[in-house]
This record gives sequence, C-alpha cells and structure tokens, in this order.
Amino acid sequence: MVPHLKQRIDLISLPASSTIRQTMQTIDKGALGLALLIEPKTKRFVGLVTDGDIRRALLNGYGLESQISDVPHPEPQKARVGMTSCQIADLFSEPVRVVPLLDDNDRVVDLALFDQRMHLPVAAPSLGDKELQYVSECVLTGWVSSAGKFVRRFEKVLADFCGSDYAVSTSSGTAALHLALLALEIGVGDEVIVPSLTFIATANAVTYTGAKPVFIDSEPETWNIDPSKIEKAITPRTKAIIPVHLYGHPADMDPIMEIASRHGLSGIEDAAEAHGARYRGRSVGSIGDAGIFSFYGNKIITTGEGGMVVTDRADLADRMRILRNHGMSTDRRYWHTEIGYNYRLTNLQAAVGVAQMEKAADILRTKKRIAQLYDEGLESVNGISLPPRAPWASSVCWLYSILVNGNVIGDGRDRLAAELAKSGIETRPFFPPAHLQPIYNTGQTLPVAERLAQSGLSLPSAIGLRDEQIKHVIDTIAAISDSLAQQ
Ligand SMILES: *Cc1c(COP(=O)(O)O)cnc(C)c1O
Repeated sequence: MVPHLKQRIDLISLPASSTIRQTMQTIDKGALGLALLIEPKTKRFVGLVTDGDIRRALLNGYGLESQISDVPHPEPQKARVGMTSCQIADLFSEPVRVVPLLDDNDRVVDLALFDQRMHLPVAAPSLGDKELQYVSECVLTGWVSSAGKFVRRFEKVLADFCGSDYAVSTSSGTAALHLALLALEIGVGDEVIVPSLTFIATANAVTYTGAKPVFIDSEPETWNIDPSKIEKAITPRTKAIIPVHLYGHPADMDPIMEIASRHGLSGIEDAAEAHGARYRGRSVGSIGDAGIFSFYGNKIITTGEGGMVVTDRADLADRMRILRNHGMSTDRRYWHTEIGYNYRLTNLQAAVGVAQMEKAADILRTKKRIAQLYDEGLESVNGISLPPRAPWASSVCWLYSILVNGNVIGDGRDRLAAELAKSGIETRPFFPPAHLQPIYNTGQTLPVAERLAQSGLSLPSAIGLRDEQIKHVIDTIAAISDSLAQQ
C-alpha cells in the first residue's frame, strides 16, 4: 500500500449529483483513473466511478451532462479503519486496484493502492546499507575486478563459517562444481553419481568434464539422494558422488561417505541451497572432499552471481586457484601449461558477499522462523505434507516446500499453485528430475524423484516477508484446500 495519498482524496472527490463532464475533469486531476462520489453534507462515501465506467456509459448513449450517479458502476470494495494489511489485500482483484479506507462515519480517510509489493515472492535478496557501503568502497578505490581485499575476506569468512581450511571463490556455483571435479581429476570416460532430483547444474558440471552423470533416485525421508541405491550404480568407471542438500535439508552424509571411502570415490557436496545447514553438528560443505556453494540472487547468501568451493585439502585448493585463473603457472606470469578457465569472482561481488555474511546469523534465524510458522500453520491442512526433518539434520529451509496430495486436492500441485497466484502468492514447482530432461533422457524410472517432482511446491520464503504475510499464505492454502477437497 502507498500511504500519503490523503492529499489526493479531496482532489478526486465530488458530489454524487455532479455531471459526467465534471466527473471526467475530476478524474483527470487525480491521475488514478477514478473519482469518489460523496454525499456533500455528511461527506459520506457513496460510490466510486472509474474512467472505464464513464467510457461504457458514453458508448451507451449517456451525454456529458448526464448525472454521474445515474451511470452504472459496480458496488465498490471498501476497507475499514482497523483492518490488517492482509485483510485489505484480499479486497483487491484484477479490475480493483484502488480501495477507499473508511472511518466509522463512512468518510474516506485513506486510499489503499494495489502494487507489486502485494506480491509474496518465493525468494528475494535482502540487501542493505552494508552491501552498498562495501560496493561503494570498491567503486571509489577502483578495485572492481578479481583482485582486492573483499575477495580474500569473503573466502576467509566462508572457510570459517564452514569450519574448512580453504575456500576458493568462483564466478558461480556451477563453476565451483566444475572446478572441484577438475581438481579431483575427473574427466572423459569417468562416471559421477548424482541425485536425479536437483537443479540441472549438478549434472551439467559433470558433463562439462567429459564424464557421465549417473542418476540415482531420492529417498522419501529427506528428498535427497538415496544412500541405499548408490552402491548398485557403482562401476569401475565411477570416480565420485555428488550428494545435494536439496532445499536446505542435508543429505545423509555418513553412509554416503562410507560408501565413497569403501570404493575409493571422492565426495563433493552440492550445498548451493544449504548455507548454514548442519549434519550431525557439522556444517554442510565441510564433510566431503570438497563442498560447493552458490551465491545466485535467490540463494540464502547472495552476491548476484557467485560461488565457492570449500575444502580441507591444500592440493585441491591450489589446483582450483590455478584452474580458475586460465591455468596460469604460479611461478611464471602468462605462462600456461594447461587449459584453464576464467571462473574468478569479482571484488564487487565479494563486497556484497562480505556484507551478507555479516548478517548470515540473522538471515538463518529468519528462515527458521518462517519455516516454524509454516510448520505450525500447515500441519493440520488436508492434502499437504510438510518438508522433511531428519532427526540428525538441521535444515535451513532455503525454500519452504510442501508436497501436495493429488487425491485430496483437486488436480493437485498445479491447481493449488494457480489458485495461489491469483492472490499474488508466488510458488515454484520442484525441478523436473534430470533423468527426464531432454538433454539426458536416460529412460530410467526413478519413482520417488518423479513423485516428488510432480507434487512438490515451494512457498514464499523470502526473508523480507512479515509474519502476517506468511500467515496469509497459510490461510489461503487452507481455504483452497478445503474448497478443492469438497469438489
Ligand atoms: C543454484 C544451484 C546450483 C548452481 O549455482 P549457480 O550459482 O546458479 O551456478 C547448483 N546446484 C544447485 C542444487 C543449485 O540450487
């Protein structure tokens, strides 16, 4: 809602006995496309006409001197002093973009305007003065490329955050995955085990190296790679496993790393969605041979675009620093003995990252509170399953995600999503599993991943959302669930 519209109320108010001509002049002054009709003596609000109402009236034979109160106009939506912003938000619809706020005497005291801020997003970055200050420092000092103090600081902060010895920043999470695979010497002819239910980058980074991603089904308890299905997929060509901590819930790392070590495989954690999540007390990313993070705009910590590999292995960190910088020799500048990449993070991006990490604890606390509100509010809603919570896991709920039971709720997930969209509530369906994507299309049937992909829906989880907005989402889901279950 935009406040301070009060001055405009007088400008667009006129007696209900006015002519169409006078009303058009009044509408013109307010630039809101409407006029408020008022009872002149009491100042009571009696109606609202839009320029569309007038256009239709003129086409239907009304003249400019016709009385405006004779022009057909729909019964207006009215808000009352004391209503919450969510109650007011419910009054808006496709044609209704302005709602007058009335006091006990039916006088208009304010106007509520529909605008984009009514939109409740799945994710949104939380950027503030600190980010601006650090970025300004880069601009003012000219340190905008990949040399500069913020890059080193960001790497140090991330290593400490994970309890890892080394952190190597990269231009994206995908670049981080690629670098980690390259440093582990994975390439043509090799196979790498990945969950099918993940963002496509996990599999694509494997493909970049010339190796083949081998897709594994999910486990229903965590939605992550099913450790009990890994061993059957191991061949003499298998070199590594990449568990993904999907939507911020850790994968079951102990059995995965046990299988890896028994077969001499590397473990790379894809923690792109799980900054700050913990597995049996350990930070995700620090458990495998290497762990990667993404700082894309919708991730828990963002630098716009960006990524990081954390590891305790000095040899891997050294290799990755060379490979991300065109494979340039460390003791001779512009001397190249292998083909490397430009996967460097800029100082500008790292400046944003350092500022973000200063409030990481706040961000994670807010994520937890949002998840708690959803957990409590959705527990008793028919036809919905809540996200996994393994007893050994501390999830960060990157995107609070539910499963929609198609037997209870009409056409299931897509129907619910479409209904929520009408109320300005953004949702996102789960990723289609990689084994079904046109680029891989392996012909496998992976029933758990496929079922999750069909029924999974992520809800508004942006940390800027207020408690009452989360409650509004919950109430809307409950109401839709009730009405769909009755059909
Ligand atoms: C976002 C994401 C990535 C890739 O990160 P980018 O920074 O966008 O390249 C990789 N894996 C998962 C699971 C992700 O969600």
